[in-house]
Amino acid sequence: MSSHLPSTEENKSLVERDKKVIWHPYTQMKNALPHIPIVRGEGAHIFDEDGKRYIDAVSSWWVNIHGHAHPYIAEKVSAQLAILEQVIFAGFTHEPAVRLAERLLPLLPGKQDKVFYTDNGSTAVEVALKMCLQYFNNIEKPKTKILAFKNAYHGDTFGAMSVSGRSIFTDAFNGLLFDVEFIDLPNAANISKLTSHISHLKSELACFIFEPLILGSGGMLMYEAEYLDQLVACCQENDILTIADEVMTGFGRTGTFFACERLAHKPDIFCLSKGLTGGTMPLGVTTCSNKIFDAFLSEDKVKTLYHGHSFTANPLSCVASLASLDILLDPKTMQNIKRIEASHAKFAEEIRGHKRIKELRQTGTIIAIEWKTETGTSYLSELRNKLYNYFLGKGIVLRPLGNIIYIMPPYVISNEDLREVYDAIKMALDEC
Ligand SMILES: *Cc1c(COP(=O)(O)O)cnc(C)c1O
Repeated sequence: MSSHLPSTEENKSLVERDKKVIWHPYTQMKNALPHIPIVRGEGAHIFDEDGKRYIDAVSSWWVNIHGHAHPYIAEKVSAQLAILEQVIFAGFTHEPAVRLAERLLPLLPGKQDKVFYTDNGSTAVEVALKMCLQYFNNIEKPKTKILAFKNAYHGDTFGAMSVSGRSIFTDAFNGLLFDVEFIDLPNAANISKLTSHISHLKSELACFIFEPLILGSGGMLMYEAEYLDQLVACCQENDILTIADEVMTGFGRTGTFFACERLAHKPDIFCLSKGLTGGTMPLGVTTCSNKIFDAFLSEDKVKTLYHGHSFTANPLSCVASLASLDILLDPKTMQNIKRIEASHAKFAEEIRGHKRIKELRQTGTIIAIEWKTETGTSYLSELRNKLYNYFLGKGIVLRPLGNIIYIMPPYVISNEDLREVYDAIKMALDEC
């Protein structure tokens, strides 16, 4: 194939061409360092143009649970590409979408009956919120308020932003975001205060959306399943629907298949994305119980869920998810998850008590190290950039959230690679 680029453009490096035409996510473009041109991925590694190897210790923004270019997923997706690449999902259906729903629903905690497909985590959240609000409209008991955690992160579209904590991510839009009831993370000391607050607002609250066990982008903030369970129970007693945003925690990340397995009371709705396709293709899923689904069945057209995306249930994405499930259900994967969990716990013991560490937290395959700073916490802190570049220099991709370094590796990462990441963090603690 011949390139249609003018020869002068072709001679320029990818970095230069990128700088001219690309606007990158979550990036202040004024002083951004050149974006590293990645040409290839394999397992836990990515390789740049010059052949430099990086350990992808954050699973490429938390999606790549089986590592890069997994041959089994690649094979399944390539085969599907020659059969059916995309088809309109209103009025039509296809085997990969049906099969994935059939396999996914029984794996979810509690009783989930229906799958609604979208194409990313934010839209999975939007659909969940619409389902809840319209549910109460449809049963003619309208309630419009949503309950969420302070510091939550549910995505970057307007609804998802509204139910996320207010931060520099949302500053420019705060006036336009809808009003949400925010509560603190639950613990032994505040749980009864929180449940009575919820009961008090029962006539207004339509739903409670939460990231189970760990608030990701909010700073890897972890909390006990026991108290989340009490919040969910309280919502159920008060006719408030519950939405588990397992976009990050799903598919083994927290040590169990889904984080909500640790709850006795099961949520009404689940949002999934990120690890769903093994990080190969974009796909979002919102699941619900028949209790919710049935409230949309009506002769009255107004009761329909009018929502859909061009790429709803893309067959390639569904096939990638089916392949990813095969790998997840292979006992070797759960062994790897347990291996990483144990390895993180040992590393935590090695560094516990270091003078630069404010707090160490671990849930499953995620370990977070909160750095002690004089100036307090900020996503924009100089320390963050310094650390990010320090690790890159050592061939390791870690993206600290402000002063919080975390490791969220692909499950295939080797013990040697984990050791390299741990040693780099130890060195950073001593040097930075
Ligand atoms: C990343 C994330 C989202 C948003 O998913 P996108 O695919 O980035 O839109 C939503 N919720 C949680 C918990 C996430 O971590």
